[in-house]
Amino acid sequence: MGRYVEGWNRSQSFLLPESVDDYVGEDNPVRVVDAFVDELDLAELGFGRATPADTGRPAYHPAMLLKLYLYGYLNRVPSSRRLEREAQRNLEVLWLTGRLAPDFKTIADFRRDNGPAIKATCRHFVLLCRKLDLFSDSLVAIDGSKFKAVNARDKTYSQSVIQRRMEQVEASVARYMAALDTADRHDPGVPTAKVRRLREKLDRLREQMRHLREMEVVVAAAPDGQVSLTDPDARAMTTSGRGTTVVGYNVQAAVDTTHHLIVAHEVTNATSDRAQLAPMGLQAQEATGRTTLTVLADRGYFAGRQIVACEEAGMVTYVPKPYTSGAKADGRFGKQDFVYVPGQDAYRCPAGETMKWWFNRVDENGMTLRHYWTTKCPECPIKAQCTPAKMRRVTRWEHEGVLDAMQKRLGPAPLSRTPQIG
Ligand code: SF4
Repeated sequence: MGRYVEGWNRSQSFLLPESVDDYVGEDNPVRVVDAFVDELDLAELGFGRATPADTGRPAYHPAMLLKLYLYGYLNRVPSSRRLEREAQRNLEVLWLTGRLAPDFKTIADFRRDNGPAIKATCRHFVLLCRKLDLFSDSLVAIDGSKFKAVNARDKTYSQSVIQRRMEQVEASVARYMAALDTADRHDPGVPTAKVRRLREKLDRLREQMRHLREMEVVVAAAPDGQVSLTDPDARAMTTSGRGTTVVGYNVQAAVDTTHHLIVAHEVTNATSDRAQLAPMGLQAQEATGRTTLTVLADRGYFAGRQIVACEEAGMVTYVPKPYTSGAKADGRFGKQDFVYVPGQDAYRCPAGETMKWWFNRVDENGMTLRHYWTTKCPECPIKAQCTPAKMRRVTRWEHEGVLDAMQKRLGPAPLSRTPQIG
């Protein structure tokens, strides 16, 4: 072949045959998976068939299936069908499983039947990381991912979805009725095949309408106003793509920012991340054994009560505030243009006036809001930029000091060690 790098001759025999172990380097991560699983007490963790049955066909050892599952997790091969293929052709997997190649159904059943045991394994792994002092930085990032459920979007109902589908059905009925009228005018006698088809379509639409009315009652009785027919726990939730939704689950994870290890995870059907900061922070605190934890999250997690709950538990939070001021959107001063003066318990407005506290009111969410305003508004020269009302009022949550302190932390120190989340 001249000047080319040459490979082996496939038919070449070797004097000293190589073993599969020679193909797996000493520092290959599969060796860690192998050693970690071999050290586990699978029966104690709750894995099925951890003790072999006396009768029947021998089963695959759960340790082998767990190694295969962890390999798939580490190498982004979540599908049981793909894992089946890897078990037949991938040298690392051949090494890991001892050349056993379970079929996809065995792999899928293992995953389905051992959910709690796999979760317990994750806990065990976190404990091991703790022992190795891998969480010494006490800094975790929390984020969520949307996972698709086995539930078509058409099988998920909410009040707005039903309303939209009813409007679509009504529009279709009107269209077919008009087509029927036209057909009748052209041929008032015996119905043609076309008329028959139109009537069948109308019957189907009326059936759809009946079904939607029934679902309307079911959705009204559902606690969160959503019903999924195939997978009752799945929920329709918006994704990062503009205007896109997915029917599925919101999987929350707290990740150690130094070694990128998942210290806590939770599968939820919460449609947004707004109520997830404190539960995930508390789980991460327990998993890492560190009370003084620093927690990072994106704007989607900003919720006053959640942040206060974290701070009360000893955590230091970094969650940027989403600015959704209606006044700002209308080109007027937003709340961020009013400066709180703690010493006076008052706000300084953009015109330099002092807005003093007048009274407290509890809102519909049970939050105590303090109300501030100044009587100087009517003669203010920049009032048009501030408010169309007689006076501009500013409200302040009783715990807003905690949010202000967090904002201050976020401002000057954008955390040089802040990792990329997601
Ligand atoms: S309208 Fe009132 S609150 Fe607004 S800038 Fe003028 S004085 Fe201040």
